[in-house]
Amino acid sequence: MKVLSLHAANPGPYTGAGNWTYLIPGDRPLLIDAGVGKTEHLEAIAAAVAAGPARVLVTHAHPDHASGAPALAARWPSAAFSKMPWPGEDTETLVWSPLVDGERIATGEGDLEVVHTPGHAPDHVVLWHEASRTIFGADLMQLGNSVAIPASKGGDLAAYLRSLRRVQALRPSRVLPAHGPVIDDPLALIDQYLAHRHHREVQVLSALEAGLDTVDGITGRIYTGLNPQLGPLARESVLAHLIKLEHDGLAKRDGARWVSVS
Ligand SMILES: [Zn+2]
Repeated sequence: MKVLSLHAANPGPYTGAGNWTYLIPGDRPLLIDAGVGKTEHLEAIAAAVAAGPARVLVTHAHPDHASGAPALAARWPSAAFSKMPWPGEDTETLVWSPLVDGERIATGEGDLEVVHTPGHAPDHVVLWHEASRTIFGADLMQLGNSVAIPASKGGDLAAYLRSLRRVQALRPSRVLPAHGPVIDDPLALIDQYLAHRHHREVQVLSALEAGLDTVDGITGRIYTGLNPQLGPLARESVLAHLIKLEHDGLAKRDGARWVSVS
């Protein structure tokens, strides 16, 4: 399939080198993710399709994917914007047409199917191009890193694991992610992710059994030598594991304290 990778020009501690957005040209050019409204990004879009995108699909409401939508709308007023709703998080100055799980989106390269993949965010979707077995993966996966599960803000580890298994069942041969290089062996990465989360769960349980009973204490035991800038993400990940263990009946909380159930 013909697809252009356009960088959003937004490097930073949480975005790494920054975000990829993807443009599928054709009669009604489709842009996947809006970036953050950087001039370099807008110029790259204009260089590829002078009339701009006819439609912009946003994979989830996180600012590195969605916050550029108003700048795109200002430059190309006829563009239509779609995403799965996340009430309270979606930019209210734009009209969003709601995406639905299973919906098919026509492009110049054939249909894309919307696959709801919550976990990293409740509104997260990936887009499946069956003809080429390609997935536009947004923040479901990225090479060389695990994906943040912000448990205090819409993240859900159990949902994330279900989303990985759902994508695994599609047997994609390639994933075009929002961060990092193209993933040419996504099934191997999913296996690695599932093993990694299982390993973390065992670590969190054993920390609880050793008597550590707070998110900070457990995080300090598991993430030794962590870059302090990434401390909040690590704590969110531990909290996500604790909430999953609570749902699984293996841990319970008493205020801010956690204990294992055995
Ligand atoms: Zn995100």
